[in-house]
Amino acid sequence: MLMLNNRFLYGKIRIGFIPEELPAFSSNQVRFYRRYSSFVFKSLAKTSFQRFLNWMLTREHIEKETIRVIQVKILPLRGKNGKGVAGKCNLAQGLIRIYPKTSKFCQLFRRKFGKKILHIYAKNRARAALIHELLHLKYGEDEKTVRELSQEYFGIFTKRLYTVKFQAFCIHTMVFSSRIGKKQVPLATRTNSLQRRAHSNTFKSKLLI
Ligand SMILES: [Zn+2]
Repeated sequence: MLMLNNRFLYGKIRIGFIPEELPAFSSNQVRFYRRYSSFVFKSLAKTSFQRFLNWMLTREHIEKETIRVIQVKILPLRGKNGKGVAGKCNLAQGLIRIYPKTSKFCQLFRRKFGKKILHIYAKNRARAALIHELLHLKYGEDEKTVRELSQEYFGIFTKRLYTVKFQAFCIHTMVFSSRIGKKQVPLATRTNSLQRRAHSNTFKSKLLI
């Protein structure tokens, strides 16, 4: 029973797929994105990560009922600024979407760092995106707080999972490379003051990594 509770979000994760989007992609790309999405699905469903999410949701007092479905999208999405979107959260519908990196990016990344590092990057990028979008359920459009907290929570997760500190540091740096060195306020101080803030129900957010 305890085990089931610890993996509560597992049953809400689905692979999301819109057949109409396919003609824009070659069959090789579709094969790549299908493999990518099932890899991400497995990474998000992993017991160690599910346990961590359960702990985070309890700590943040985020009601699990507000999450209806978590979709692992097969195809990538570009934001208005041209950057790839990692995740989106629709508070009104309780819908979280996680998007992949493009096949082109993965090809270049793999050539530079190898397959193993690419896998580590892809799964941890998706985990960081899910942490980020779940925090939006509580903090609404307060993007700054969500960003800071998601970095901290992701850091806690990687430290637990990767016991060698250097590995944890590298993974954190890889996922949040554009925001290294930002000064952070301790987690406990901030959560207390933020708990009182109201959050919008209709806000839609997206995470760009
Ligand atoms: Zn966000």
